[in-house]
Amino acid sequence: MITIENLNHSFFIGKKNEENEITVLKDVSLTIKQGEIATVVGRSGSGKSTLLNIISGFLTSTSGRIIVKDIDVTNFNEKRWAKFRLEHLGFIFQSFQLIPSLTTFENIELPLTLKGIHPKERVSLVNAMLEEVGLQNHGSHYPNELSGGQQQRVSIARALITNPSIILADEPTGSLDSETEKEILRLIKKLNREKGITFFIITHDDNVASISSRTFQLHDGVLSETGGVLYEAK
Ligand code: ADP
Ligand code: MG
Repeated sequence: MITIENLNHSFFIGKKNEENEITVLKDVSLTIKQGEIATVVGRSGSGKSTLLNIISGFLTSTSGRIIVKDIDVTNFNEKRWAKFRLEHLGFIFQSFQLIPSLTTFENIELPLTLKGIHPKERVSLVNAMLEEVGLQNHGSHYPNELSGGQQQRVSIARALITNPSIILADEPTGSLDSETEKEILRLIKKLNREKGITFFIITHDDNVASISSRTFQLHDGVLSETGGVLYEAK
């Protein structure tokens, strides 16, 4: 589902020379199978977001190869990435990234509009999704009228609405209290079990790793696999 081979990434502060080079990812390789919940745990600054941004096509790696859904995406240009993301990937962020001027319903509907889905079909898909994430009574609320947990549910619904096979999440519970975190982790696990969606989650939080089938650790840009199968991914 996701294969990364010998990925290296450096940032340069100022001129592109050795003195100014910060190497953030060092020869990172991993393979994640369909239906897994894979977690990369690492301290702040260890390169987690950089890794996720490269897998999402928001950042181009210095070297290495990335294959997602059997497609070599390493040299995709921005246009192809945009199309690929809309077709295959969903995103969840720590800060939810909802559009404040749109209601819950409209935020979830947006990717369908971008995909050119007919309005009638959009309404039925969004209504079903609201049920799925337990927000059937909050469709007309704006983000600032929702709790953090509810906002994260909206963002999960928005990620899911296009039926992606992979959801990439950067610190999905980083802004939530521990009770709400548990609730969101239960939802992720349910979606994985019932819909077979693959999750790739990066986090500094060990609790998140507790729901994963595979765990990795990123330490100063070096990735190692730390955990076995905690439960059988389908
Ligand atoms: P994490 O998500 O694990 O906290 P990041 O991937 O955001 O870590 O950052 C890893 C390292 O790369 C940090 O030292 C950070 O300062 C550096 N870094 C991240 N983005 C940039 C950038 N655009 N330019 C220069 N350095 C960066
Ligand atoms: Mg980060």
